[in-house]
Amino acid sequence: MFVVRKPNELENLIDKLKKSNKKVGFVPTMGALHKGHLSLLEQSKKENDFSVVSIFVNPTQFNSPVDLEKYPRTELMDLKILEEAGCDVVFVPDVLGIYPGGTFSEKFDFKGLEFQMEGKFRPGHFDGVGTVVKRLFEIVSPDNAYFGEKDFQQLRIIQQMVELLGLEINIVAVPIMREDDGLAMSSRNQRLTPEMRKEAPKIYQILKEAAKYFQKHPVKKVREFVIAQFEDTILKLEYFEIADEKTLRPIVDCENSEHIRAFVAVFAGDIRLIDNLKLK
Ligand code: AMP
Repeated sequence: MFVVRKPNELENLIDKLKKSNKKVGFVPTMGALHKGHLSLLEQSKKENDFSVVSIFVNPTQFNSPVDLEKYPRTELMDLKILEEAGCDVVFVPDVLGIYPGGTFSEKFDFKGLEFQMEGKFRPGHFDGVGTVVKRLFEIVSPDNAYFGEKDFQQLRIIQQMVELLGLEINIVAVPIMREDDGLAMSSRNQRLTPEMRKEAPKIYQILKEAAKYFQKHPVKKVREFVIAQFEDTILKLEYFEIADEKTLRPIVDCENSEHIRAFVAVFAGDIRLIDNLKLK
């Protein structure tokens, strides 16, 4: 496994691969790797000749300096995990490599996707995500890039960005990997106290109950049901939304949407957790 830290070194390597017609798969991550990340790599390995995983904690997508500072960083362990998983190249750039002109976000028009859900509570977050992924795509030039449905809104934003910029990159959506008790795997789970860790699976339990409730009740009632359920936990609900998978707009009439998903964000102490579940 190659560990590459300089963008131009990776560009040279990818150039050579492309000249010999190798298909390149790419998995962008912020490190603190878990099985969710590895499921993206597994899929990339199946569908490409060469797989690149990047590890970069992107400062422009964090809303709070404390959250950025507290984000887990486990590079040595990550490299070991990736080596064992059969990754071909790990790209570990520094901030200057990604932001040579300064740590700023580009402003994007994601056709309204950026104003829903996460966008309401994390202003500028998706400009940061778009900026870093665009830059990483420039360096890696992948044929296929893998994104988890865990961050469904991010996945839709990246699909929109690829369309907007006319990039010839196939975006592959990978299902959510969960712990045995249903908690969606996340780097942030490492920070949960034992008490929080015990409560956190309720996020998925409540989503599943909401999915059942949704079959027989209007959206407004489902929302009331979910709010009440979270009141019985130590988790603080930030938002619950039932939205169209394409537009991410809240559902008004279920008949008008082919694909519907429930989205949730909660706080366990100062740790923010998100999850989602397909309803239709
Ligand atoms: P992150 O390191 O949190 O930025 O995540 C990197 C990629 O892994 C993103 O595309 C995430 O959506 C994806 N990912 C994170 N957690 C999971 C999970 N539990 N299941 C599937 N994909 C995930």
